[in-house]
Amino acid sequence: MNLTKLESQIKKTLKEIKLKKSDKILVALSGGKDSTTVAYTLHKFGYKIQGFHIDLKIGKYSEDCLKSIKQLCEDLKIKLYVYDMKKEMGAGMCYLRSGIQSCGKGTLKNCAICGVLKKSIMNKQARRLKVKYIATGHNLDDEAQTFLMNIMKGSPNLSANSGSITKNVSDKKFVPRIKPLFDVLENDIREYTKKLKLPVVYTQCPCALDSYRIQVRKFLNTLEEKDKQNILKYFNKVFPRLQTLKDSKLKYCESCGEPSRGKTCKKCKLLGLVK
Ligand code: AMP
Ligand code: ZN
Repeated sequence: MNLTKLESQIKKTLKEIKLKKSDKILVALSGGKDSTTVAYTLHKFGYKIQGFHIDLKIGKYSEDCLKSIKQLCEDLKIKLYVYDMKKEMGAGMCYLRSGIQSCGKGTLKNCAICGVLKKSIMNKQARRLKVKYIATGHNLDDEAQTFLMNIMKGSPNLSANSGSITKNVSDKKFVPRIKPLFDVLENDIREYTKKLKLPVVYTQCPCALDSYRIQVRKFLNTLEEKDKQNILKYFNKVFPRLQTLKDSKLKYCESCGEPSRGKTCKKCKLLGLVK
């Protein structure tokens, strides 16, 4: 694999979203290959980045992730902020998740619950740190999966939240998210981190067992690279129309004051169950 191919794909996306070298960016680091690649390349290209990690306290897996992230930030000489779930929320992700699931929301999958809580923490911390963007490691495979999943759920308009930048939301309490790997295939990212021997945890989160995304990923992996890219091409075509269907105005959650689409935000709805 040509390392420069991946770097040019990222540069193209950064150009499209008009990212400036002076923009302060918080990279959401999970310890996996994708977010590690985001931090490594943005740093290499001369962007101002800081790292942010939510320590989910999922046993050895979380310990390994934190160790890799600390190594990466030390190598790149960037500041790292760590949010400790147990200290800040009183419990690790596994405990909160099983509490939520046993209190009547048993149909909610592990990854869906974790995703809602992580997004909420990320936005709050990024706002406190006064950064312009949060950069995540979502790649082309993730985006194609999300697009298909939304179609299969019968809600294609949910994809209006996707894209390489969350440009449809403008609110002073909401920190926009960017996806520098929007155009990059997962396999290319794996090869890139292995060739450069970046500190990465390659094992999957032990809680990611039952997700609908895993089923969709399996299906998409039977397709050629070209077919995946065609799905994304189609997504890019319909994206402007999807956005017009959406009410882009955010409200504030009546319980915690954070940005929300409804009266109560998703995080408060979930945590309300375990009180
Ligand atoms: P996931 O929702 O696990 O597929 O992760 C999507 C993106 O969210 C990753 O590429 C990271 O940028 C970010 N992310 C995931 N887990 C964490 C975490 N524990 N701490 C900070 N950022 C995370
Ligand atoms: Zn709330």
